This record gives sequence, structure tokens and C-alpha cells, in this order.
Amino acid sequence: MHELSIATAVVEACAERAAGARVLRVRLEIGRLAAVMPDAIRFCFDLCAQDTAVEGAALEILDIPGRAVCASCGEATDLDTPIGRCLCGGALRIVAGEELRVKDMEIA
Ligand SMILES: [Zn+2]
Repeated sequence: MHELSIATAVVEACAERAAGARVLRVRLEIGRLAAVMPDAIRFCFDLCAQDTAVEGAALEILDIPGRAVCASCGEATDLDTPIGRCLCGGALRIVAGEELRVKDMEIA
């Protein structure tokens, strides 16, 4: 499962950054176009966090809406799926919504 490897990477990155301290809270940004299921991440995160500095940490998921700009007319559009075309027929360039990163975290 794709989400499991993401959760593993997030837990590892947080444990490393905590440098021995306990992680209390992790804020993760997930773009709506990142093709990642927040519920699956939550589940895998708890699983991966066991026996690490991240165990018991609260996972807060920040939903980033998808946004694209038309390559032809420059019009900005909101996107819920990574595929689409502008009303003018131009190709869309995604400018937001593909995020998948740890925004910040709180340590004890
Ligand atoms: Zn356009």
C-alpha cells in the first residue's frame, strides 16, 4: 500500500528531527491532488509510530485544495482531480494541491 510507505517516511523524518525527544503532534499537509487517502495515512501513521519517538503523537492533516492555471489564457481554476482542461481548451498547469509534506511538529 502506497500510504504505508508514505506514513513510514513521515514517521522516520519526524523521529529524526525530534532527535531523541518525544513527538506530541505532527501537522501534515496533503494536497487534494496528491492521490493519497488521509484516513489510510492516519491508520498507517499510528501503526508505524509504534515503538518510535512518534508513538502516541496526534496527527493533524491539513487539506490543501487543488488549483491550476491555464497555460493558454492564464485563468486560474479550482481542481478536485488532477486532470482537466480550461474552458478555453488550454492545458492546465497545477500550482497547488500536490503537496505531501510535514508542515511542522511539536515535541515535548
Ligand atoms: Zn484557458
